[in-house]
Amino acid sequence: MRLNDPSLLRVDSYVDGNWLAGKRRFAVTNPATGEVIANVADLGPAEVTAAIDAAVTAQREWSKRTAKDRAMIMRMWYDLVMANAEDLAVILTTEMGKPLAEAKGEVAYGASFIDWFAEEARRVCGDVLETPQADKRLLTLKQPIGVFGAITPWNFPIAMITRKVAPGIAAGCACVLKPAEQTPLSALALAELAERAGLPSGVMNIVTGMNAPAIGQTLCDDNRIRKMTFTGSTEVGRILMRQSAGSVKKMSLELGGNAPLLVFDDADLDKAVTGAMMSKFRNAGQTCVCANRIFVQDKIYDAFAKQLAEATKALQVGNGLTEGVEQGPIIDNQGLAKIERHVEDAIGKGANLLTGGKPHALGGTFFEPTVLTEMTSDMQLFREETFGPVAALFKFSDEEDAIAMANDSEFGLAAYLFTENAARLFRVSEALEFGIVAVNTGIFSSEVGPFGGLKNSGLGREGSKYGIDEFLEIKFVCVGI
Ligand code: NAP
Repeated sequence: MRLNDPSLLRVDSYVDGNWLAGKRRFAVTNPATGEVIANVADLGPAEVTAAIDAAVTAQREWSKRTAKDRAMIMRMWYDLVMANAEDLAVILTTEMGKPLAEAKGEVAYGASFIDWFAEEARRVCGDVLETPQADKRLLTLKQPIGVFGAITPWNFPIAMITRKVAPGIAAGCACVLKPAEQTPLSALALAELAERAGLPSGVMNIVTGMNAPAIGQTLCDDNRIRKMTFTGSTEVGRILMRQSAGSVKKMSLELGGNAPLLVFDDADLDKAVTGAMMSKFRNAGQTCVCANRIFVQDKIYDAFAKQLAEATKALQVGNGLTEGVEQGPIIDNQGLAKIERHVEDAIGKGANLLTGGKPHALGGTFFEPTVLTEMTSDMQLFREETFGPVAALFKFSDEEDAIAMANDSEFGLAAYLFTENAARLFRVSEALEFGIVAVNTGIFSSEVGPFGGLKNSGLGREGSKYGIDEFLEIKFVCVGI
């Protein structure tokens, strides 16, 4: 891996300000080439408990610092992340596969949470309440929840970490974070930069390891961990919720999606196709907010399908480090198998293949950008997120029909809607049972907007002015005078 600063490539865990080699290692591979790029420390429950010990001690001191002081360290961290954006993007693409331009975008997006929450730290304030009794004075204090556990996925190896750690440490908490097994290097590089920024030892601990269930259980069982924050599959989210019941932890869960994208016949067709391409094919379709089910009104269905298939055929597939590549590999064989299964199931039940549909000639886990039409609700793809580059087009006749199909899902994370009719825009946005509705655009994420889902897509909101509340407790103080 060619880096301007090779010392950013850390392969040991980061616990209490020390780089911990552990007793075993596990291999991290480049999904574009299959090459082993690093052997990383494989920690188990004993080391995780040591990390919790460190976080508990560090949090006491960290929470006593002024918000301004915490913000200044975070701001330094932000500056270092941006100054090293090029290297961070190379590390990210090499371990995860997304095109370098997307990786650079993720570094800036990830950094924006550090910058944003450094500012938010200084705006946490309690209240003085009007009292119903003349001999009492009533106040609320907002205090850090304490030590939190965090578990993050591979598809945004930087942003999913900063979206949790930045609000947490801004609030005066400390954490023990386990990154995904496929993408520990981005997490460790972030820790290296946090250390250089002056973040005190023990405030952010990164435990890498292969035994995710044991690490998760250790975090959930420990009473000193007062909150779990998780991004990943709904299935694992449910496990963590169950395991956290014993110690009644506060939970933030960013789970699976099955995003609908609705195109009405009054939409601007070019805008809708561009938006669908951005939403569908970003990160090779491996994001929780990628459009999974594209519903198109009957009058414009054929025109939309034709234009989308043309744009899809033009996508450049390859190693994300190669200039001009727009779609990298799928993360692993399991991910590839699920995509193949969904496409086969759809074709077997009558879908029509406009382009793609099979593993790419490049081999490995590359998959052809695909467009399917004549999709129906009895197909697997309708119920489960595909997490791959498959645009699946369903037909609808009227607004009521479109809303009913879109809402017919256990998930409720993001939905998209394309229309030039202002009344419809409000009607449909209000009717969709999703935490996020993007109108006439395929991209909506930023540090300013609250990110989170309804139904089985999760609990809580990340980013925005609301994100820091997830790491604060409200204490009521009643003073007799
Ligand atoms: P995953 O299997 O749930 O893994 C996510 C994280 O959980 C990884 O760090 C994984 O560790 C860990 N993990 C796995 N089993 C565990 C267990 N029993 N106890 C504790 N931790 C455990 O999800 P994924 O397949 O990597 O990610 C894709 C999913 O994430 C999709 O469903 C996607 O929609 C969702 N996602 C949601 C959002 C959102 O904001 N809502 C954002 C991104 C992704 P290992 O890597 O070691 O297995």
